[in-house]
Amino acid sequence: MDKLIHGVAADATVRVMAAITTDTVREAVRRHQTSPTVTAALGRVLTGTLLLGSSLKDFDRLTVKIESNGSVEGIVAEALGDGKVRGYVKNPVAELPLRSDGSFDVTGIIGKGMFYVIREAGFEVGFRPEPYIGSVPIESGDIGEDFAHYLLKSEQIPSAVLLGIQLQAEEPYVTCAGGVMIQMLPSSDENIAVMIEDTILHMPKLTDSIREGATPEDLLKMTLGIIDYEILGEKDVKFECNCSYERAFQLISSLGKTEVRLMLEQDKGASMTCGFCNETYTLNEDDLKRILEAD
Ligand code: ZN
Repeated sequence: MDKLIHGVAADATVRVMAAITTDTVREAVRRHQTSPTVTAALGRVLTGTLLLGSSLKDFDRLTVKIESNGSVEGIVAEALGDGKVRGYVKNPVAELPLRSDGSFDVTGIIGKGMFYVIREAGFEVGFRPEPYIGSVPIESGDIGEDFAHYLLKSEQIPSAVLLGIQLQAEEPYVTCAGGVMIQMLPSSDENIAVMIEDTILHMPKLTDSIREGATPEDLLKMTLGIIDYEILGEKDVKFECNCSYERAFQLISSLGKTEVRLMLEQDKGASMTCGFCNETYTLNEDDLKRILEAD
């Protein structure tokens, strides 16, 4: 089971989060049939969204949205307080050749555009305060750097964001995935930032460690070096959507009887595919008749 932890370091002057997201990214690939470079991009966005939302409470929701002019066109990920995350890309088959250093050209398929973060509190219990929406232009398209750029420009938090996805040619295509986020609070010491930067510069590749079995806490230790930390929370995370047959049924009902009658007469049924998870729900003739007979 994938895990997400969050805590504090250096006498609570630094916020830290780490996650292993291998199964989460595998499920995203299975559902959306993404190309390798899109898998790297979507995997990083899903992981970054989980990290950014690590201290979400039940009923909170955090959405990260990229709208860009590259061939992937757009990416959306949404994390909930209970550790569920879902996400999709507009064009799952966007692809570019590997870069000269052998890495996936995530920057190339993203291109230029905007990076949005939408924070909503208590969205399912009926009271909906205005969502907080922050946005920055896409700085690098590398995604990790874009999360860091967003935190700095929009929330005034200097940070380090490491997101790693390692792929393989055979199913399940994702060897391992995970990430670390370090946020410097206003009270933090400049020396701590320098120490962390230096540790990151010299540490082994994140994905190599995850492949060898590192836990989220191991990733934190690698990143923090000798700086002490305290873990404040841990949760299981997974790719899971909140769509259902009942929701699809309600949505089709809401189209109105004229529309439903047309579906029944012309198509003998109706089907709906959820954009977030690619699940298709099919309503047969009896289902449509049930909608028409309801008052
Ligand atoms: Zn869905």
